[in-house]
Amino acid sequence: MKNNDYPSSNNRRKFLRGISLALGTTAFGIPLLSLNACQSGNSGNQEQADQANQDGAQNRKLGIALVGLGGYSTNQLAPALQETENCYLAGIVTGTPSKAEEWKSKYNIPEKNIYNYENFDQIKDNQDIDIVYVVLPNGMHAEYTIRAAQAGKHVICEKPMATSVEDCQRMIDACNQNNVSLSIGYRLHYEPHNQRVMELGQQQVFGPVRRIEAADSFVIDEPDVWRLDKELAGGGPLMDLGIYCVQGAVYTMGETPVAITAQFGEVTKPEYFDEVEETIMWQMEFPNGAVADCRSSYNEEAGKLRGEAENGWWELDPAYSYSGIDGETSEGNMDYPQVNQQARQMDGQAQSVMENRKSRVPGEMGMRDVRILMAIYEAARTGNRVQLDI
Ligand code: NAD
Repeated sequence: MKNNDYPSSNNRRKFLRGISLALGTTAFGIPLLSLNACQSGNSGNQEQADQANQDGAQNRKLGIALVGLGGYSTNQLAPALQETENCYLAGIVTGTPSKAEEWKSKYNIPEKNIYNYENFDQIKDNQDIDIVYVVLPNGMHAEYTIRAAQAGKHVICEKPMATSVEDCQRMIDACNQNNVSLSIGYRLHYEPHNQRVMELGQQQVFGPVRRIEAADSFVIDEPDVWRLDKELAGGGPLMDLGIYCVQGAVYTMGETPVAITAQFGEVTKPEYFDEVEETIMWQMEFPNGAVADCRSSYNEEAGKLRGEAENGWWELDPAYSYSGIDGETSEGNMDYPQVNQQARQMDGQAQSVMENRKSRVPGEMGMRDVRILMAIYEAARTGNRVQLDI
């Protein structure tokens, strides 16, 4: 399994879904920060808050609460939050008391900043928490984003934003109604090799792009994980990994596809893939006639993004991993630094909140992508060429 998305060994746990009646009143932007950013009456990460206060308004760090302490929060986001400059790990939301204890001592998190899924809505009264970062299975993103927005907190939501376009719209509406920002965990927008691909494609450095090839896959080797559960995952590898190919093609072109064809691959492990696809291939046509050939599977390893333009080409492989991203162009190696993508991403998102600017990767981008994912499924299911007008 490669290291861009780790399925966990969590069983499909039953989960009590609450309904929030809490209405947030927090103002968007800078006034909010002077209230929330670093006022806390407790110990623990209070040190960071105090330091930030002493540093004055410009250096204030925003408090982030991670919701869902699975593989990605544990191995990537929490460590990254030890390196961030604009934000810090202020709180956690978990349904597992033993994890709460472990994180509390490991990261010095005050007891009052630890929530479970039932009392989560009380986070609205917690001045330490500015941003709620939803890192739950995909099918739960909408509920927790909406509850966080209603609690008056800015939201970062992991990809894919939700499992339906309707849910994406509800999430955007909730954030707008509560004057909070909504951003998606698209870390590669903060990664230098992928940023270079955006330039090469969009600025037509080698002329107009004619063809894109993208693949993102890993092997799932245990059957009882939420990623194989249609309700929790929304679909198979397309939702989880193929979204990187969609993103890659769209940020190469700087525009959205106008038509899609798609095919489901062979099912070789029916005992795993009785709810979601094992493999999917799809083709996206762009307005200038360029075509992106994409593939995603839970039964092979891949991670590539290639662009072919009129006068040259480029290729990242691996393109989407947390580290070790490697690339070359028709003119030679791409020589860019490896960065802590998650730290950069969260710093960038916190900064846009501080400056009352829209995120580089806003909810609307997440919804656009879910729209494309749904069109890919429709094309695969019907065999039709599905036209898109986004
Ligand atoms: P995971 O299985 O490791 O963790 C999921 C967490 O959700 C666990 O802490 C689990 O206890 C909790 N949970 C709460 N209710 C649950 C339920 N009903 N069923 C299962 N788990 C439940 O998953 P993960 O890899 O951390 O992924 C979480 C989210 O983060 C997903 O949306 C995934 O797409 C995203 N992700 C993004 C990246 C990235 O590179 N941006 C990488 C990995 C995961």
